[in-house]
Amino acid sequence: MRVYNFSSGPAAIPEAVLQKAADELVCYKDTGMSVMEMSHRSKMYLEIIQEAESLLRELMSIPSNYKVLFVQGGASQQFAMVPLNLFVNGKMDIVITGQWAKKARQEASRYGTVNVVGSSEDKNFTYIPKLDKSKFDPDADYFHITLNNTIYGTRYNELPDTGNVPLVSDLSSCILSEELDVSKFGLIYAGAQKNIGPAGVTVIILREDLLGRAMPITPTMLNYKTHADENSLYNTPPTYGIYMALLMFKWLKENGGVAAMAKINREKAKTLYDFIDESKLFKGTVVPEDRSLMNIPFVTGSAELDKKFVKEAEARGLVNLAGHRTVGGMRASIYNAMTLKGVQTLVDFMKEFETENK
Ligand code: PMP
Repeated sequence: MRVYNFSSGPAAIPEAVLQKAADELVCYKDTGMSVMEMSHRSKMYLEIIQEAESLLRELMSIPSNYKVLFVQGGASQQFAMVPLNLFVNGKMDIVITGQWAKKARQEASRYGTVNVVGSSEDKNFTYIPKLDKSKFDPDADYFHITLNNTIYGTRYNELPDTGNVPLVSDLSSCILSEELDVSKFGLIYAGAQKNIGPAGVTVIILREDLLGRAMPITPTMLNYKTHADENSLYNTPPTYGIYMALLMFKWLKENGGVAAMAKINREKAKTLYDFIDESKLFKGTVVPEDRSLMNIPFVTGSAELDKKFVKEAEARGLVNLAGHRTVGGMRASIYNAMTLKGVQTLVDFMKEFETENK
């Protein structure tokens, strides 16, 4: 029996997508082989990767002057790849909203100067800092934000106005969850293992004018241009992961696209936040105005009770609810594949647990 999986990532994949993959696992269409066994240069595979790209373009309304790349190395590799490719003046601005932003800062500081324009570390990243534009460097090569903070459960409601400085954002835990104006960004990156499919693929969406300025020390494989010039086929890409991403994109389109998904995502998040707000036992850890739609941390205030909750939830088929070690308590990650019914089942269990543990 399948469980309700609240993992922060790798995360749940819709059963319909898994079933389709299972149906095609051994023999893909009339090829007589699995997608895993196919040459990445074969006609059949080219159709898969091209369709994955065109569907993602359609779902996100990606303008034609943006490249879409499928690379490897996870979102973590982007912490280095972005500065290696974008540093010309050797300067970047960043907002520190959690562990991932800190890692982006750490890697960029190997290659240039990092200007921290805001941080919420003083309150364990429970809010998105208000930014003072006078601190922005107009000569920065880029301005980095983590749009949704997977660990702490915060997200930006508004994008910083960076003028001509390209906005670069880590969308690992919120890509395809809500409508987004791609033209506001210079570069977007996201690891696949939350809303796109299995781990192993990283999606890059970048404005064409940002190509071709990589630092001379940039390894070939870490140069965006290498992948852009060869349509993500410079070397063997993560072929099966890209095929799974295609199935996810098709599923999303069949279910009404990003706008329809956003509506459900808002309803899911509201269901959980509304209960947390009225509960006497459970408390949210994030200021209401910056709450994430995808990752919802909450605590009881007692580490012992938190542990009991996670254990009893698991016995009911509500799994992976333990919070990150730096926050404690619980965290429900409710990406696109989590249904409203899954969230309602969680809330019903929380109500029951509250009554029994008064
Ligand atoms: N950024 C964010 C926002 C994340 O949530 C994660 C992983 N959960 C990462 C970066 C790191 O991704 P990866 O493990 O793919 O390198």
